[in-house]
Amino acid sequence: MKIVLANPRGFCAGVERAIKVVEMALELFGAPVYVRHEIVHNRYVVERLRARGAVFVDTLDEVPDGAHVIFSAHGVAREVYDDAERRGLDALDATCPLVTKVHLEVEQHGLAGRAVFVIGHLGHPEVVGTLGHYPRGARERIAVVENEAQAAAMPIDAARGVAYVTQTTLAHADTERVINVLRGRFADLRGPHGDDICYATQNRQLAVQRLAQLCDTVIVLGARNSSNSLRLCEVASAGGVAAHLVDDDAGVEGRWFDGVNTVGVTAGASVPEVLVQRLLARFRQWWPGLVEEELGEAENQYFRPPRALADALDARRAAMQKT
Ligand code: SF4
Repeated sequence: MKIVLANPRGFCAGVERAIKVVEMALELFGAPVYVRHEIVHNRYVVERLRARGAVFVDTLDEVPDGAHVIFSAHGVAREVYDDAERRGLDALDATCPLVTKVHLEVEQHGLAGRAVFVIGHLGHPEVVGTLGHYPRGARERIAVVENEAQAAAMPIDAARGVAYVTQTTLAHADTERVINVLRGRFADLRGPHGDDICYATQNRQLAVQRLAQLCDTVIVLGARNSSNSLRLCEVASAGGVAAHLVDDDAGVEGRWFDGVNTVGVTAGASVPEVLVQRLLARFRQWWPGLVEEELGEAENQYFRPPRALADALDARRAAMQKT
């Protein structure tokens, strides 16, 4: 058996930043630190942070008054910031800057009175947060479209113009088709240059496309509620190979490899490298031999954690060194 490893794979800059924010908050404030929603969609990451004192909640109602609360990488609606302020909570924002960019697009279109189509998955936390950046009291002018049929038929008040934004973790080709339907419907359609799909999503999808050309089957490490991981499976399948999504090495089934000569491995943007290495260790037990790495787009993005948090932590560390 030959094993080919995708590159890039796994953690993106937004996920690294979000995890860092939780770790820094735990060091600065001590446990517990509350996190609204899973900080990123990965059970291993969530459990590791939980063991250090992070408490994951679905709503701010579960956060005690005066506590520290972190908003996940997926972003939240404006109301959530307002609720936190009203409650006197110390809120830290771990929203990925590339999601914040989409929020700003929505806010600007809303202020200009333009209706907005959000191309994405209804109910996904990122989409819920994005919808919540359209001006309150006018949200009948923002709608989610998931596919071409909805883009063709979804009613919207277009009297003051129409725009679109996209979820950051979609498959590029599918999204392009939906945008083209909207363009055919609204001649003055506004939007970002192309789409809002982030660099990490695009690079991982390109890498898995290459894997699909080289391999008979592809294993995608990632969670079922992780949009970008699901898209990696879809892209691999579209390339004509069997694709299996697993949380970790324990989810892999030997029967998937009957008649297979080359297996590809990749990981969604919220999957730590340790899980990739565990999977490779299992494969090496089954099939001793070399693992080849398929080099793709080099990534050097880094997103700084919030300045106020970094400064407060530096000050605390300096004070501790003096004592
Ligand atoms: S997948 Fe993209 S948008 Fe999402 S956290 Fe990573 S870099 Fe940000």
